[in-house]
Amino acid sequence: YEGKKSRNEISVFDERMCASLKREETLRSSIKDCIEKGDFHLCYQPIIDITSNKITSFEVLLRWQFNDEFIPPSEFIDIAERYGKINFLGEFVLEQAIQSLRQLNELDSTLALSINVSVLQLENHNFLALLAGLIETYAVEPSNVHLEITETVMIKNLEYLSKVITQIKNTGVHISIDDFGTGFSSISVLKELSVDYIKIDKSFIDNICDYSKDESIVSAVTKMSHMIGCKVIAEGVEKKEQLTILEKLSVDKYQGFLFSKPVQLSEAIKLIS
Ligand code: C2E
Ligand code: MG
Ligand code: MG
Ligand code: MG
Repeated sequence: YEGKKSRNEISVFDERMCASLKREETLRSSIKDCIEKGDFHLCYQPIIDITSNKITSFEVLLRWQFNDEFIPPSEFIDIAERYGKINFLGEFVLEQAIQSLRQLNELDSTLALSINVSVLQLENHNFLALLAGLIETYAVEPSNVHLEITETVMIKNLEYLSKVITQIKNTGVHISIDDFGTGFSSISVLKELSVDYIKIDKSFIDNICDYSKDESIVSAVTKMSHMIGCKVIAEGVEKKEQLTILEKLSVDKYQGFLFSKPVQLSEAIKLIS
């Protein structure tokens, strides 16, 4: 009986594995065509200065409408990273974003865009030239371009990454560490890399009102960040009470559904007009 049960379990597992591999294969092989067809587009979520209550930038978030299905970035970014498509996808995002920045800066010259980049993109030797080329082509202020480093893959060569980031910063572009406190992002990254912003992950903000440990962690991370010259952005703020605590802890900026969900460019333009 035991043997039969485990064999059944194995076959159910196999079927599920098979379905998920098929889906992965479908998505992987569709990325390129879908970019060309216009099935990918960008959304923009405001980042607000807590003291002035003004929008200082927008985070650029990629969206994929695949046939009738909305594929979440958590799924397709992972696939793109694992199958060598992230540079291609990242280039699309970078160009579209800098083009939008140009448009937004015509209305407000101080507004910035925060663009997510994978560590794998930074490891590509053409990245700096691509970035500098787009900044020149669209004649945007480099300091209005912020790159959010999403550390979803292990940094293989911290020395090389550190060199690239220094070169990027020398062009005037700002650097943020995304999802700070989760995954691979750690204090050693802050020691090695020169960054402008630390984004505290939503998981520390969720229970900040009723779980004192989170409040202590956010307080300590904020103090440490300020001491090393970084500004702090809180991610995923949904309630007024969370914002009240963040203000008390001297967090600089916040982002979340409390102010606005990610919106289309036309909507973003309305928000700053
Ligand atoms: P992220 O960079 O940490 O982006 C923030 C995520 O939190 C976004 O999810 C955003 O929609 C969501 N969010 C913001 N405020 C709230 C809130 O108040 N409540 C809740 N529940 N969620 C909130 P999204 O758009 O699904 O993106 C997920 C992740 O996918 C991003 O996390 C980022 O790591 C990655 N991603 C998105 N676009 C790109 C891209 O163009 N390039 C790369 N490399 N990664 C991207
Ligand atoms: Mg981000
Ligand atoms: Mg984040
Ligand atoms: Mg996050």
